[in-house]
Amino acid sequence: MGAVVPSRYWHRLDDGRLQCDLCPRECKLHEDQRGLCYVRARVKDEIVLTTYGRSSGFCLDPIEKKPLNHFLPGTAVLSFGTAGCNLTCKFCQNWDISKAREDDRLQSYASPEMIARAAVESGARSVAFTYNDPVIFLEYAVDVAAACREAGIRTVAVTAGYIGKGARPEFFAAMDAANIDLKAFTDQFYRKLCTGSLDAVLDTLRYVKHETGTWLEITTLLIPGENDSSQEVEALSEWVMRDLGADVPLHFTAFHPDWKMRDKPPAPPATLTRAREIARATGLRYVYTGNVHDEAGQSTYCVSCGERLIGRDWYTITAWRLDAHGCCRSCGAPCPGLFEAAPGGWGARRAPVLIAAA
Ligand code: SF4
Repeated sequence: MGAVVPSRYWHRLDDGRLQCDLCPRECKLHEDQRGLCYVRARVKDEIVLTTYGRSSGFCLDPIEKKPLNHFLPGTAVLSFGTAGCNLTCKFCQNWDISKAREDDRLQSYASPEMIARAAVESGARSVAFTYNDPVIFLEYAVDVAAACREAGIRTVAVTAGYIGKGARPEFFAAMDAANIDLKAFTDQFYRKLCTGSLDAVLDTLRYVKHETGTWLEITTLLIPGENDSSQEVEALSEWVMRDLGADVPLHFTAFHPDWKMRDKPPAPPATLTRAREIARATGLRYVYTGNVHDEAGQSTYCVSCGERLIGRDWYTITAWRLDAHGCCRSCGAPCPGLFEAAPGGWGARRAPVLIAAA
């Protein structure tokens, strides 16, 4: 079972086609055509989502894996995706899901209430819409988020931020936290490797930071020879510093060869360390390396006294020096984010969760 639900984000064109306004791709559809994301289609003279209620599977992950380092550290997050994507990144690290058609990959129906209940029962503190981009299953994600909030579970969007201006208020109002990819800092990269546009993503980042209450962190996957030059990393970091501010955490993660980009080598740890140093030199306070062992580069430090507030090694918390209000225990300076008196004890585990209707 799975439901087809109407989309609210489309309009009719003079030539009879319907334009989807959910993302900047603005697919223009004739009857029975699907958009590039595959999961939205024109059916009976309206645009619908065809994958409501169906997922590609549920898993308990460490929240650090999203990655979010300033949002309930050490806790488990119940994570799921659906199928399809509205970008076409050649380096996709989840291509088995993002390139899936709904029929060949998706599991049985899970209602928003079932997912919220599973999160509570499994001890997760949040639910993440991840693995593929939740923008394309907005109606399902928003309903799941409402059920989660009702049950005291927080919500996390892991997204490329490629969303239309009309749809983003509803989407981000439902999200307590977001990790948004900033895949590179050149429009050429977005056009050549993702068939997207840089400006649309920068606009979403500014919107989330300045016009919503959603906690924001950013991830840039560094790909050798494509987006890892010192000049580009510096330009990206300066933009984050200037347009979003020093307190937005920035994660540099390591590329590994995948999907249609298997000819590139993995990003060496030294590239991530160099990027982190460049970003910190621009004034950004919370810059992290990811997908490598680098305790120094993955830990959080007090901006006032330099105390190591949260030690991390990959997804494991190794030190904790925050008080119950998220302030440094040594000097009292606040650390931005959502913290409790102690970190969660989930660790680096990953555990599948079965949610299925009878
Ligand atoms: S959400 Fe899908 S159908 Fe709509 S514009 Fe984007 S890619 Fe096209």
